[in-house]
Amino acid sequence: MAQRRTTLRADRTALDGEYEVLICGASFAGLAVARELAGATRADGSPARVLMIDRYEIGERQTSACGIPTDWLEALDLMGSHRQTFHELVVGTPFATTRWPLPRSFSTFDYPELCALLAEQSNCEFETAKVEGRTGHTVHTDRGDLTAPLIADALGWRRVLASDGGFQPPEAPLSRGLEVHPGGAGDDLAIWIDRDIVPAGYGWSFPARDELRIGVGSFDPRFHVKQPTVKLAEELGSNPERYQGNWIPHELRPAAEDGIFFTGDSAGHCLPLTAEGIRTALYFGIACGRELGDVLAGERTREQALKRYAAFSDEHGWKYRWMLDAQRALPRLHPRAVHALVRGMRHRRLTAFAFGHYFRIASPDIVGAASATRRRPRAERTAA
Ligand SMILES: Cc1cc2nc3c(=O)[nH]c(=O)nc-3n(C[C@H](O)[C@H](O)[C@H](O)COP(=O)(O)OP(=O)(O)OC[C@H]3O[C@@H](n4cnc5c(N)ncnc54)[C@H](O)[C@@H]3O)c2cc1C
Repeated sequence: MAQRRTTLRADRTALDGEYEVLICGASFAGLAVARELAGATRADGSPARVLMIDRYEIGERQTSACGIPTDWLEALDLMGSHRQTFHELVVGTPFATTRWPLPRSFSTFDYPELCALLAEQSNCEFETAKVEGRTGHTVHTDRGDLTAPLIADALGWRRVLASDGGFQPPEAPLSRGLEVHPGGAGDDLAIWIDRDIVPAGYGWSFPARDELRIGVGSFDPRFHVKQPTVKLAEELGSNPERYQGNWIPHELRPAAEDGIFFTGDSAGHCLPLTAEGIRTALYFGIACGRELGDVLAGERTREQALKRYAAFSDEHGWKYRWMLDAQRALPRLHPRAVHALVRGMRHRRLTAFAFGHYFRIASPDIVGAASATRRRPRAERTAA
């Protein structure tokens, strides 16, 4: 059970005020927005007031198994949080185990350490507050109302700031995932596509130096994953302890709506089929931060920025639809056909082709790409 570091309601001081940018949510997407806005200035060159809020302290609640392509950690200078690197993905089916050579390595990292490193790269104000709703450009929190012309919802799958009041499982397009974090070590990044574990989905074990992250994800939100997770952990000789689970969006949602920028899981940016949502949250968070920065700098209006950001997100729509089609097709295939597909992918050329396309969906090249707010190097802006 995670220790609560966040002060409770009675210990909190009232919070109110006007900011230029309000970032709601301080996990991957929110921290990427904040990082991109480090040192952001208004058109007259004075520093912009940017506030980020979250119901927990930064890094307090882990939201994933924390597996990511290694080049994302390198591009964002986050290798300080690195735990373990893998050059193969080990895929189990009921018939055999196959090793897929990965064209680019994957790594696990430590969640609090990564969040702390990202937070260090931003210089916005931070407060813990629970977001309860929104009226226009005023966000209602349990500590008071906050107003800003530029608001980013990086609050995860609930999409709390949506005008329709957000998502309600199990009707919403959500998958579900649960994992345990027993102590232990391993060499293999492994997944299992086996209907004895989960009818539509997969199980996984991600080693992270001195702990394992063992879990089960179901594309069907009505399928309960606790018992399969416990069983998988026990079969792997581990204690099912330190649970962490959540709903996982598997459909894109409008990235701009009613004057609000949505990024990460709140916009459905998590990838269907693989449920990889960290690098996409970082990727779209960076894109969102750039648009916000350009508005602050007077380069464009909020409406123009909302349109551009929504269009940028939509450009990726066909890739998301393709992944969702694959997610829907997988449980319909005969297990032997799934196994044949898995075996076929052991050839380096095939994995290079498939993973090449897959990794390009949200490439870390965006980190170094130019934008109006990045005309001065980030370090220089942060120091200003
Ligand atoms: C079991 C599991 C394992 C996963 N493993 C991986 C993996 O290994 N690799 C990968 O790429 N993806 C993985 N994912 C998916 C990944 O976790 C998400 O896609 C990713 O966390 C999305 O980031 P985000 O910043 O958009 O949202 P989140 O990480 O969900 O962050 C939302 C933030 O908003 C805050 N918040 C929410 N509601 C409120 C509120 N009302 N008021 C104030 N604050 C609020 C939360 O405290 C949190 O800090 C996994 C998901 C699950 C469930």
